[in-house]
Amino acid sequence: MINVEMRQYGKERSAIRELFEKGKVLKEKYGESNVFDFSLGNPSIPCPEIVNNTLINLLKNAKNLDNNISSFDANYINKYRKLSSTDLHGYSSAQGDKLVRDAISAYLNKTYDADTTSDFIYLTSGAAAGLTISLKALTNGNVNEEVIVFAPFFPEYTVFIKNANAKPIIVEPDYETFYPDLNDFKNKITKNTSVVIINSPNNPTGALYNEQTIIDICNILKEKEREYNHPIYIISDEPYRELIYVDKKYPFITNYYNNSIITYSFSKSLSLPGERIGYILVNKNATDAIDIYSAVCGSGRSLGYVCAPTLFQYSIPYVLGFTSDTSVYKNNAKIFYDELTKIGYKVIKPDGAFYLFVKSLCDDDKEFSNKALEYNLLIVPSESFGIKGYIRIAYCVSEKQIKASIPKFNELYQYYKNCK
Ligand code: PLP
Repeated sequence: MINVEMRQYGKERSAIRELFEKGKVLKEKYGESNVFDFSLGNPSIPCPEIVNNTLINLLKNAKNLDNNISSFDANYINKYRKLSSTDLHGYSSAQGDKLVRDAISAYLNKTYDADTTSDFIYLTSGAAAGLTISLKALTNGNVNEEVIVFAPFFPEYTVFIKNANAKPIIVEPDYETFYPDLNDFKNKITKNTSVVIINSPNNPTGALYNEQTIIDICNILKEKEREYNHPIYIISDEPYRELIYVDKKYPFITNYYNNSIITYSFSKSLSLPGERIGYILVNKNATDAIDIYSAVCGSGRSLGYVCAPTLFQYSIPYVLGFTSDTSVYKNNAKIFYDELTKIGYKVIKPDGAFYLFVKSLCDDDKEFSNKALEYNLLIVPSESFGIKGYIRIAYCVSEKQIKASIPKFNELYQYYKNCK
């Protein structure tokens, strides 16, 4: 029998994908340059040259790699010199190649004082796989189990949580900072809470939680762990870790809270979303950390992931610490924020990621997004991110496209102004 829930997920595309498809139709009708597609978080900046060079070198059997090494020692080079085509395209260990995991742990220790080893790193097909694997590993399929998410949030979280048979519990934001409302957070934790998902820098608001907020979240959880006498895990979802445009410290969660897991992805930092590569880091200081790691391996196995894409695994040691030219996003954010604010829109100032969160000009954000379509503007209603009354603009597009769209945003603003 067909699984009704799965059929529904397949039939009902996410609001983001729905808009993306509508955009294709509009582009056919009006021409590519006359449609302003801000729907999808698909990086517009090419990956850094070192990524392609590394792949080419690996495929040519690693002949010229010695000059391009970023963060690991000669042992790796010697190993990689011996890689054959069947190695590069073959299965790796289920948790990922050991030397690749060594390189990641060395990089995390050096950069974030992460105090980890390769035994706590598991390579994944991007952050989405990292999340489904981690959620299944940290819950027991008990329908009463609860996973807390902070609104507004990446819409797929609810799909992934339900897939682990758990219940998503939504915490309201503070509408000034778009950090979580900590009172609401405290009230929503129950004896059934297993996991809390944090995402900073945030999709869709661009908020970067400051250190004090992370400390406050952790303190609340530590108190609740004592009260309920069981671990409550944090999954910190960090595909935008390097996309920060302000002079603020990035709080590395495993340094603040023992029962934590990080899901990381190279999709955004290296502009590689189609290559499906990332990793899970289990905090080695978590209660039963070795068992958590085993559960992660088991979860990946049961979900049929087999191993992360091998060619991209082998490229990671050479590209750790590199990013695409993120100054382009910083520049886009400034132009877009300044121009929309000048028109009269209320825009949340982003500290990172590549999204602007903007107050809808009418109460119904879906209606607003539909009206924007009449101006060939593709912007995502906030309902799908768990709150009402806003829209999300993905500004990982060209500066030219942003500038060309401003008159349309102005016309849209005037339309609503004249309605009142
Ligand atoms: N988490 C968040 C917050 C995201 O915004 C995305 C993608 O947009 C993902 C996870 C999934 O990323 P990946 O491409 O690495 O699976």
